[in-house]
Amino acid sequence: MKLHKYSVGTGDRFAHQGKAQLQACVNALSSGVEVVPVWNKSNREHTIIGSEPISARKSADAAVQALGWKLPYHVDADHITVATVDRFVAPCDFFTIDVADFIGQPADAADIDAFVKRHAGLIGSIQIAGVDAPFNITSADLQAAAQKFLAAVKKAGEVYRKVSGIKGADNFIAEVSMDETDRAQSPVELLIILAAIADEGIRVQTIAPKFSGRFNKGVDYVGDVTQFEREFVLDLAAIDFAVMRFGLPANLKLSVHSGSDKFSIYPAIHRSIKKFNAGVHLKTAGTTWLEELIGLAEAGGDALELAKEIYAEAFAHREELCAPYATVIDIDPAKLPSPETVCGWSSEQYTSALRHVQSNPAYNNSLRQLLHVGFKVAAKMGPRYLDLLEANEPVIAKNVTENLFDRHIAPVFLGRGA
Ligand SMILES: [Zn+2]
Repeated sequence: MKLHKYSVGTGDRFAHQGKAQLQACVNALSSGVEVVPVWNKSNREHTIIGSEPISARKSADAAVQALGWKLPYHVDADHITVATVDRFVAPCDFFTIDVADFIGQPADAADIDAFVKRHAGLIGSIQIAGVDAPFNITSADLQAAAQKFLAAVKKAGEVYRKVSGIKGADNFIAEVSMDETDRAQSPVELLIILAAIADEGIRVQTIAPKFSGRFNKGVDYVGDVTQFEREFVLDLAAIDFAVMRFGLPANLKLSVHSGSDKFSIYPAIHRSIKKFNAGVHLKTAGTTWLEELIGLAEAGGDALELAKEIYAEAFAHREELCAPYATVIDIDPAKLPSPETVCGWSSEQYTSALRHVQSNPAYNNSLRQLLHVGFKVAAKMGPRYLDLLEANEPVIAKNVTENLFDRHIAPVFLGRGA
């Protein structure tokens, strides 16, 4: 099973927007680019919502059937570990093996020595096509990277073998993710990590490093875009080299996590993948849940009232809701409107504050992040929330499709200004 060159990860927390999300890929196809959908849902999301991975599979299959989608599609066991993978094995065919927690844990001294000896050929200056300056790797770099990442890669190998033992190595797509950690990995580190992944026998098709800059949930990138682009290009060069040198799958590509709404780096991603004729996996999540809220608010009546109630609840429980996401949100409490203020809002006031249109003066980045982490509030409402989703499907679907296509797929894969 081979992942397409271009793919988009979409999260569908309440499993009601599969068709609307797939429609964005249909729109891409009519615009001349094949972007394959991957429905991703992490163990944490399933736990908060109270859903099982099989529900993501059923929803994906139903959307594909309804729209007559003929290209491949996948269901991603997002950020799974050896402890959480079991219930994902049957329904999923894409596995994001998260080993960030094991970065920095000590590997066996003998393993480190063997790794450094095996890859001594990397020491020195490596000139890679497409980049001006060579990669300079010292023996200390190799040693340090092995110390830092070898134990994590071995953990990835455990999960990979567990899945391949059950499904067969050719029947799933493996991603290795290292993004949920505090320090970005350099392109040289990425190259060395790929050497270790190849040694471990993992047929990795996508790799998710942590890039520099902040990737806050559901809002734009915060950081130096020029530096991001420089590093992204070097990462692509490192991948090209690793594929040739270590015999990794030829379609190996970068996976950009928390890719939702990182508008200011999308042109850089587009330019870089064009330059290298590279693929990319853009993993979004959460942005669709916010479009559900926007659609409810836009619908007015009961639906707008429910959207206001969700804000009020999220505001009341903001500390508890934000705590698990502390490292990936930046909310300015002074910018959060009071629930009483929001209670008086029209549909337009609510949608203008929430919809991610930065040129709109009413857009409120703090409110957006609070609601982003507030999906637990809607999950607790259960059928009250789901019934209104169903009753207002057309207006919600329109927002979901437009958001995914116009703001994400078009700038990244088609190079259109967002
Ligand atoms: Zn991630």
